[in-house]
Amino acid sequence: MNRTLTMLAAMTLAAPAAAQAPSLEAAARAALESDTRAWDFVEGITTEVGPRQAGTEAEARGRAWAAAWLGRNGFANVAVEPFMMDTWVPGDVARARVTAPYGQDLTVLPLGNSGATPAGGIEAEVVFFRTIDELRGAPEGSLKGKIAYISHQMRPAQDGSHYGFAGPVRWVSPGIAASKGALGVVIKSVGTDHHRNPHTGGTTFPQGVSPIPAGALSLPDAENLERMFARAGGRPLRLRLEMNPRQIGRTESGNVVGEIVGTNPSLPPVLLACHIDSWWNAPGAFDDGAGCAIISAAALRVKEAGQPLRTIRVLLAGAEETGLWGSKAYSEAHLDEAIAVGIESDFGADRVWRFDSNFRESNPALHQRIAAAVARFGVSSGNDIASGGADLNIVRDQKGALIDLQQDGMRYFDLHHTPDDTLDKIDPVQLRQNVAVWTMVVGILANEANSILTGGPIPSAPPIMESK
Ligand SMILES: [Zn+2]
Repeated sequence: MNRTLTMLAAMTLAAPAAAQAPSLEAAARAALESDTRAWDFVEGITTEVGPRQAGTEAEARGRAWAAAWLGRNGFANVAVEPFMMDTWVPGDVARARVTAPYGQDLTVLPLGNSGATPAGGIEAEVVFFRTIDELRGAPEGSLKGKIAYISHQMRPAQDGSHYGFAGPVRWVSPGIAASKGALGVVIKSVGTDHHRNPHTGGTTFPQGVSPIPAGALSLPDAENLERMFARAGGRPLRLRLEMNPRQIGRTESGNVVGEIVGTNPSLPPVLLACHIDSWWNAPGAFDDGAGCAIISAAALRVKEAGQPLRTIRVLLAGAEETGLWGSKAYSEAHLDEAIAVGIESDFGADRVWRFDSNFRESNPALHQRIAAAVARFGVSSGNDIASGGADLNIVRDQKGALIDLQQDGMRYFDLHHTPDDTLDKIDPVQLRQNVAVWTMVVGILANEANSILTGGPIPSAPPIMESK
């Protein structure tokens, strides 16, 4: 009883200070109930900028927009760090038509790095591969003069794990087909919806293999093509394909950075990452306007709970989609500046459901503290070892601490890299849950005096640390 009264007294005494600066818990709860900044960011960039293809003028407008938003909302040291990249653009022709044994147009878009057809297109027999492994098994030279079609069986999954299963159809099958002599490739879009939208995305061709035209068919069109194969009864199926994407050489892109400066800015900062660019056909609300919105809003919420010990740095990376150019450039430029821990948001705007770190065993106390703090938002603690997102190359290069805040991926690949990636798909309630979870996690990390990865003292800690 006495103890309770003492605690109540202490709480009462602390009340006036609490009214000025909410506790981290209160800041996170406020984010859950009423955050408007994350929405303002993603609504603003999708409305005022829209699609932001890497290395183009549109991405430059996105960069300027994001830098202005950070500055206006209270970030310090806002800067654009430019870098050069090899830039591919999609062109304005993308046509596919089955010419035999039936005649019908198919909806197609080029994959990033696709080669172009000659004007007027190519026409050839299509060879059907049910899986990428079937394609891998095709004899060398067997695709000479043919167009390869590669299918897959991707399904929605909460953890998005089917992307790893089906993704190689996009990432590497055009290169495999090209190396076996194919004239061109079309794939079933790596996606899970049934709208007539092809899902674009990057592909790669091995060293020494010339890029060939490589397109994605929308899922309904891919299924239609497969039915045609079934009904053709062995008669050759011919496709005419015309696309005019091209490489335009080196152009400028850039990373946007901003900081909530800590009370001890000499400590390694907490790095929050997302990416600014999107594919040309996608307004980029889910991918990744939402991610940039979530990390920026959360950093500001932490600041409201009082200046953190460590600096929080946001990295809004450029040119992620076409080959992690911004992530690599950032690591190259800053590799010798230690990062305390990295976290990325790049999986849409649906709720966070699991927390993973790569220090569950090396720093169990901190892992447990974060797990307990996010449980109230319906987030479980996972057993996977966090590997960080695409824009955290610097942390992986430093072999540093990483956290993954897993978002619900059940509808992510319905929208991914399609014109359907629009603002209306964002559920404001789930967006706010993201900001709340991030606020708790970032707030704990930014006020952690010890090494995040091991829990031990930070070797280069300046004197201010000892007094803490
Ligand atoms: Zn993304």
